[in-house]
Amino acid sequence: MTGPERLAGCRAKAQTLGNKKIRGNVLSAPRTPSDRSQLRAIAAGIALVIAFAVALWLTGDVTRKRALDDLAERSGHVLNLVSESLRGELAKHQSTPFLIAHNPEMARVVTGAAAPEEVLRANEALARWAKATDALDIYLLNSAGTTVATSNFAGARSFIGQNFSYRPYFTEAMKGRLGRYFAVGTTSGERGYYFANPIFDGRYVVGTAVVKLQVGHLEEAWRTTDHDIVVVDEDGIVFLSSDPTRRLRSLAPLSDEARDRITTQRRYDGAPLAPLDITTRTELPGGKALVTLRGTPDATASERRGREYLMQSRTMSDAGWTVMILARTDGVASYVFEAVAFAAITLTALLLAAANIHLRRRRLYERMQMQESAKVELERRVAERTDELVRAQSELVQASKLAALGQMSAGLSHELNQPLAAIRSYSDNARVFLERGRNDIVVSNLSAIGELTQRMARIIRHLRTYARKEPTTMGPTLVAKSIDEAVGLLQRRFDDGGIVLSVDLPSRGLTVIGGEVRLQQVFVNLISNAIDAMRDSQRREIAIVGRETNGRVIVSVTDSGPGIAPEHLASVFDPFFTTKDVGAGLGLGLSITYGIVKQFGGSINARNADGGGARFEIELTSARTALENAA
Ligand code: ADP
Repeated sequence: MTGPERLAGCRAKAQTLGNKKIRGNVLSAPRTPSDRSQLRAIAAGIALVIAFAVALWLTGDVTRKRALDDLAERSGHVLNLVSESLRGELAKHQSTPFLIAHNPEMARVVTGAAAPEEVLRANEALARWAKATDALDIYLLNSAGTTVATSNFAGARSFIGQNFSYRPYFTEAMKGRLGRYFAVGTTSGERGYYFANPIFDGRYVVGTAVVKLQVGHLEEAWRTTDHDIVVVDEDGIVFLSSDPTRRLRSLAPLSDEARDRITTQRRYDGAPLAPLDITTRTELPGGKALVTLRGTPDATASERRGREYLMQSRTMSDAGWTVMILARTDGVASYVFEAVAFAAITLTALLLAAANIHLRRRRLYERMQMQESAKVELERRVAERTDELVRAQSELVQASKLAALGQMSAGLSHELNQPLAAIRSYSDNARVFLERGRNDIVVSNLSAIGELTQRMARIIRHLRTYARKEPTTMGPTLVAKSIDEAVGLLQRRFDDGGIVLSVDLPSRGLTVIGGEVRLQQVFVNLISNAIDAMRDSQRREIAIVGRETNGRVIVSVTDSGPGIAPEHLASVFDPFFTTKDVGAGLGLGLSITYGIVKQFGGSINARNADGGGARFEIELTSARTALENAA
């Protein structure tokens, strides 16, 4: 295959795979549990991300509010200080025009009644006072608003002859009240604050004494890095500002009416009063607001982009102005950023810890579930095996019984043949004696026949019970009865072997938890083994002794045979262990006996008796005690 061919082949394969995939998607089968758990995981993930975002947003919001409150409190203190210092500064000068106005010489000057030397004296006095009080200018206006005397009479910019009737402080004072005003001086070009006091001649206002204060120097003290102070008039025009670029700018575009009024009063000496680029972002309670202020084109790039400030103001109504503080919120932003970052880190750490715990718990749970299902499976298998074993055991029991019956069959047929032969001869004799009229002998023969048939019936009954397949259920069982049945079955062997049997049981009888046929089988096995063992013995005795102690019944079967060789003691209960000749023993008797006793919840052991024979001892649960306990 050439390179391109191979490539084309691959592509074709990819195509078919791709198609398959698409078909698979189109025919999307009903959702499997793993699909569902995946969907659940995605939904949980989205919910977590949302909760995370909300938590961070809340943290940001709360810290921002807190930080703004702090900032507002701090800048509020500064605002109070600035307002108070302004008030004090003005108050210092407020009484000066009052004192001048009440000097009788001044009234003569403004009314024009004073001689030229008097006017000169007044000018000099005003100059002295101005120097003493640190005022910018002190001057007197006559009732037409024309300057008639001034502290700057000697200078190049002397006010003498200048008319200030357009200034509101003049009109206010001429009405007999204290005039207050701030403006840019039309002659000096300097920003000043004016106090004007009416000068009375008797009851009439004849002129005005005006003091102009310097205020520009106050701004110097306000200059800091993190806030700006501005003082604005009622039209929102910045009169004083710690930032020089904002002076004589308006906070909002001016109305035509305001612009006309300002022009008439020549308040700001023809300044353009361009509006500042200020936008209110959020109004906050307590007259505070978050504003963005953009710098003039000649400002730094960051100032041109705009900066956020927290703005607070205090109106000084008697001074006619409003003091404002603009506090920079940069600190707030970095504070909020730190808090949110901290919250994010903490939350992430918590989430990771929670996820870790969750994962561990899930793994543990899965492991426990696996162990649980493994346990259930194991128990099921054990139950299955136990069932099989029980079945095999009962089959084996039955098989060995039948085998034992086979072994016994020679003896049994002899046992049955003997009475049968006797019955035949009794009946033959009876016929003869009947013919002879010897009815008395016939009667005795018949009764002998009856006894013989009873004996046969007993043997057959023993066989039937022994051969019966008993269910594996258990209940109270009489020990004596099982021994009787076993002995009955083996009667012939006892008789043939000339064996002496002694049975020693308590008079009230022994009852154990078990099954009659199975217990009978136990005794058949033990007794027939004993008979086998004593084949070559001189003394042939079997002793069965039963006792009950502490709810346990112990029955021992002892013979006078040679006993069990010590090396065989450990193996006699093993299946297929036999010392007997081929055909004589299968080696199953004791193993089956062991199984039956275990099934009854008991135990069996083998040892050699002191007298030399073998002793098998079985221990079983007393049914009497079991019943009493249950009652
Ligand atoms: P089997 O009788 O078919 O050999 P058992 O399991 O009944 O099988 O007995 C196993 C072996 O235990 C016997 O072959 C014998 O060696 C020994 N044994 C059992 N009972 C006695 C006894 N009473 N005296 C001596 N040996 C015995």
